[in-house]
Formats: sequence, structure tokens, C-alpha cells
Amino acid sequence: DRTTEYVGRFAPSPTGPLHFGSLVAAVGSYCLARQAGGRWLLRMEDLDRPRVVPGAADEILRGLETCGLEWDGEVLWQSRRDERYRAVIEALRRRGLVFDCGCSRREILASAPHPGEEGPVYPGTCRFGLPAGRKPRALRLRVPDEVVGFCDGLFGPQEQHLLTAVGDFVLKRADGLFAYQLAVVVDDHDSGVNQVVRGADLLGSTPRQIYLHQCLGWPHPRYLHLPLALAADGQKLSKRHGALPLRPRAAGRWLAAALEFLGQKVPAELRGAPPAEILAWGVAHFARERLPREAAVPDLPAED
Ligand code: GLU
Repeated sequence: DRTTEYVGRFAPSPTGPLHFGSLVAAVGSYCLARQAGGRWLLRMEDLDRPRVVPGAADEILRGLETCGLEWDGEVLWQSRRDERYRAVIEALRRRGLVFDCGCSRREILASAPHPGEEGPVYPGTCRFGLPAGRKPRALRLRVPDEVVGFCDGLFGPQEQHLLTAVGDFVLKRADGLFAYQLAVVVDDHDSGVNQVVRGADLLGSTPRQIYLHQCLGWPHPRYLHLPLALAADGQKLSKRHGALPLRPRAAGRWLAAALEFLGQKVPAELRGAPPAEILAWGVAHFARERLPREAAVPDLPAED
């Protein structure tokens, strides 16, 4: 019953090994789910085939195991769900919510001189029909002239006017791949996820996802976005920037560092404890009210 049981998840993209930013999302979502006596699911977001790095998914799974982050049930692989995504788009299309778009990325960039926070805003060129001589490339969802609001578990009330902040957004890309925004909504719904805990870099995607849930007549999950990991120089931490692969012997220290990053004060006597003990402490003591809205990445334990 989705109204009573907490169902959380972790949804890494296998575009590289587990790095500190994704470990933070894993630890935060895990501790909150287990503390609530809920389920914690694992979804491999291997949708974007060209960006998937061979072997990365296995490395992530091994990294999670090394940390004692045990998930419930089978891993859900997005790459195996094309049929489902296709059916959902068809349902939206029958209701007139989806349209063919013939614009190239360059054309959209050219007509959007002030790129929005979420990338170039779609100018609406094809929303009332493909202009003559254009070939359909991508499929987009028509967005309404309305504000989508929600209350984030950490960042509080959020609002976004979809039309001016992002515009009609892509559900199926010109290269034939299904878009992240679509897959995440369909997967969260189909898996019964009712609590999304993930990095703050996805805060701006949430209104699009909520709107998609609404279009499909599905209740949307609650959202809590964890503090964004800032590198020492204030830049967003990415896989290209200061990220380290997880080595087995460093797991306990990485877990403690992730909890500290999340504002949780790990007792000094747990320094050097095995991963399972640190995680057990996290589940027992994780306090939402200690979460900062932003945090610098701590000195990461050296690889060993
Ligand atoms: N796969 C996304 C990432 O690794 C996370 C998606 C989500 O949690 O909704 O950044």
C-alpha cells in the first residue's frame, strides 16, 4: 500500500564508477528508507546507451555491496524497458499531449538567446504541427501555461513555470532513445516509489516529473533533494572533477564522510569501524533537520 509503506530508491547512472556525489545520494536515501522501516530499491539508469561505460554498472553494484548498502528485490534496468516507455508515450499521444518536433538542437539554441537554468527553453516551433518541409525528429510533451509547485523535504516550497523555464520537453530523443524525464517517472511509478531522495542537481527537473505524473493520472512521490556536493573551489562535483572510485578498504571512511557531508555527526569512536557499523549508526541516528542545503566535499579519504 503506497500510502503507508515507505518505498525509496537509488538510481545511479552507469557512466562511471561510484563517486562521492552518488554515494551521498545512496547513503541519504538508504538511511531515510531503512529508518522508516521501508523498502530501498535500486534502479540502473542505463538508458543513455552512448554514455554508458562498459563495466560501470557492475562496479557500482559491487561498490554498494562493499558499503553494505543492500537493496530490496531485483535491480531494475532501464535499458530493458523500451516497450513500457513506448506504451506510455502512446497513451499520452492519444490524449493529444505529445507532438513531433523537427527542430535540431542548433535551431533551438539559435531561437533561445537566453538559455534557461535548465538549458535552452524550447520556443514552441512545432507544437501546433510540423512546419512544412520538416521531418519528425524528437517527441515532446506539451506543457501548460501554469506553475507547478511542490514542497521539497529540504529546500521547502518550490515553483516552476514550465512553459517559460523549460518549454515543451523531450520524451523521446532524435536519436531514438527515451528521455530521462520520462523513464524516471514511469519507473518510480511502476516500482511504487513514494519517496524520492536524490541530489539537489535534480531539483529543477522535479516540476517536469510531477507534471508528467499528473498527465498520466498517477500520484507523484514526495521529494527530498540532498545538498549539492560542491568541490573545494565551489564548482559542482562531477565525475570529471575530483571524483574517486570506491576502494573496498576505504568504504567505512567514505560512508562516514558521506554522513558528515549530510550534516550527521558520526561519533569519533566509529572512525575506522567497518562499513556495516557505520551504516547501522546512520540508520539509527539520521536526522533530517541536520541536513544543510549545501556542503563542501570533505577531504576524501585516500584510496587504499
Ligand atoms: N540517474 C540520475 C543520476 O545519477 C539520478 C536520477 C534520480 O535520482 O532521479 O544523477
